[in-house]
Amino acid sequence: MSILPEISTTLVAPRGRRRFVWLSLLLVILWAVAAHLAVEALTRERSSRLVEKEQDTVAAIAANIGSKVGFSLAYLRSIPKVLARHPEIESALAAYGPDVQPSAFPTPVFRQALESDSRLSGLVSRLEAVLADLDIDQIWVVNAAGDCVVSAGFSPESSATGVNYADRDYFRLARREGEGRQFAVGRTSNMPGIFYSAAVLRNGAFLGAVVVKIDGTRLSRMMTERTSFVTDEYGVIIISGDETLRMKTVPQATVMRLAPAERLSRYLSDQFETVDIRPEKVGELMLQHFPGQELPMVSAVYDHQTDILKIWVFRGVAELSSFRHEGIWLFAVLLIGGGLLIASAMAAVVHFLQGRAQRAEIARVNAELVNLNEELRIQARFDALTGLANRRHFLERLDGELHRSARFGLPCSLAILDIDHFKSVNDQFGHAAGDAVLRTFAQTVGQCVRNSDLAARFGGEEFAVLMPQTSVDGATELAERIRVAVQNTPVFGGGDALRVSVSIGVAQWSGETPEQLIARADDAMYAAKSAGRNQVCASPPRA
Ligand code: GH3
Ligand code: MG
Ligand code: MG
Repeated sequence: MSILPEISTTLVAPRGRRRFVWLSLLLVILWAVAAHLAVEALTRERSSRLVEKEQDTVAAIAANIGSKVGFSLAYLRSIPKVLARHPEIESALAAYGPDVQPSAFPTPVFRQALESDSRLSGLVSRLEAVLADLDIDQIWVVNAAGDCVVSAGFSPESSATGVNYADRDYFRLARREGEGRQFAVGRTSNMPGIFYSAAVLRNGAFLGAVVVKIDGTRLSRMMTERTSFVTDEYGVIIISGDETLRMKTVPQATVMRLAPAERLSRYLSDQFETVDIRPEKVGELMLQHFPGQELPMVSAVYDHQTDILKIWVFRGVAELSSFRHEGIWLFAVLLIGGGLLIASAMAAVVHFLQGRAQRAEIARVNAELVNLNEELRIQARFDALTGLANRRHFLERLDGELHRSARFGLPCSLAILDIDHFKSVNDQFGHAAGDAVLRTFAQTVGQCVRNSDLAARFGGEEFAVLMPQTSVDGATELAERIRVAVQNTPVFGGGDALRVSVSIGVAQWSGETPEQLIARADDAMYAAKSAGRNQVCASPPRA
């Protein structure tokens, strides 16, 4: 059996290690939640800042288009005003007067008459020239009853001449307020467009109006973006870069609230398709979906008060999805980085704790080894049964004491003790009783000797006492004390009181070797045996 204690090799128990694994897992989960929240907040913040910026941009674009459109329309609006003051137009209308009634003839007949009127033919060619110069589509002049008397820019089959326009807003506005404007689909041309009118007056009396029209297609050249358009006051798209959007309505348009007859006269149509612009949620943000567009959109509406138009601009926000992707990447990087950090921190803690446990275990084993060494040292020097020094230790001491005696010229004596008839104790009372006798004997001897003396068990029932600085007389005296004490000390080993006696031989060192000194004391002991036992015999000094 090994006397060395086993050093445990699994110092951090599996249960402890599992606890660390769970702890690490918990930390990683907490970290993941925190990273997710942080990345979400960051993405949200970036997205809303971007959308805010885009919103500002789109509003600026709408205002810019609005002012451009407004500028162009202001120019168009001024054209009939200038023409209304032209003397030639004024005198042409004066021929009909302020109280003229609408023509009672069928339109083709009335047109024929007007077109062949020589007073008006000069005006027609002048108006044609104005059209070419001013980049507008049509001009016509109506009398106080709303009958068109002169027109330019129409194809022969769709000429406005002879047609009555009394029901048009632009006519009524011109008569009432001096000028008018309207979006409508051309009655003869079927082309949607914007109409501007100005009253022709003589001495405050309304003689009629000059009307100009610009087609939707021409206006639409101002809109380059497919996702920008202009609506009229009823939400109908009148100007748009994308032809398919024209004459459709925006959601919640008010066009259907018009009386059906009014709707028909204005737009030549009663059915309006709505452009499917829907709210679109992107994360927390509310954007818009525009038909045919992949990207979520921000929008702005610019209200052009003067012309009762609204300019709508939609703009795609491209970076939002890239923010999402970047967020996912950032989260992945944070998760992996944090996870590795936590794992290595945990590994370091486990390593440290394991090292500490190892160091503690080594210290414990070392202490155990020191104790064991001490025990072995004692075992090597003392007899297990009696606790006295053993023969080897005794001989070492003897050697040392003899050297000291030689050096300082001091006496030194030795006694050899042998229990009498010990064999018969064993035979009579058993080996255990014999051991008890040996222990009691050793105790008795130990009590008799001085501290400076050394008592030892030499082997079997034979003992020795070393007496430094003691002459043979002193030694004999001590031996005698031992003999008497042994004789008087009963042993309770086998039930009945048991007494033993001892024969002792004493010798004083006289310069010989330790072996020779021991032999002399031994001889003296045998002499005591021979003389009848239970006595002390001193060896005569060496010759
Ligand atoms: P004598 O008076 O001549 O010395 O007689 P004795 O019987 O003592 O002589 P002997 O030397 O022949 O016998 C010694 C006996 O001591 C023999 C042995 O059995 C016994 N003995 C030796 N060591 C031990 C021990 O440790 N325990 C016990 N119980 N007996 C021992
Ligand atoms: Mg013996
Ligand atoms: Mg004996």
